[in-house]
Amino acid sequence: MHEFSLARTLWDQIDRLRCAHNAARVVEVRLGVGELAGVEPELLRSAFDLLMESSNLYSVQLHLEQIALEARCEECHREFLVHRFKFECPMCGGNRINVLRGDGLILQQVTLESTENADD
Ligand SMILES: [Zn+2]
Repeated sequence: MHEFSLARTLWDQIDRLRCAHNAARVVEVRLGVGELAGVEPELLRSAFDLLMESSNLYSVQLHLEQIALEARCEECHREFLVHRFKFECPMCGGNRINVLRGDGLILQQVTLESTENADD
């Protein structure tokens, strides 16, 4: 399952962040899912749930946000939103298109909780 390996990669990334910050647990994760990422948000969510369950340590609130597909035309250099995967410039009709965003997953925000050492 494609989403499961993605979730695992992301989870490793998140866990490294947690370690780097010496945090006790991960509270919340905001994830941008590009329209062209080829990811089914609900499958990704269940893959994450499964990972959480098997790690048996954290309960993370996962927020998924869809990211629209944005591109730039290499002919007229204008930027536009791609609708229905129509890779053609709406301004000049050119088809030398560069995808700017919306073609992957972006870890937008990770909220960590530090260890309980508020004694000082
Ligand atoms: Zn154009």
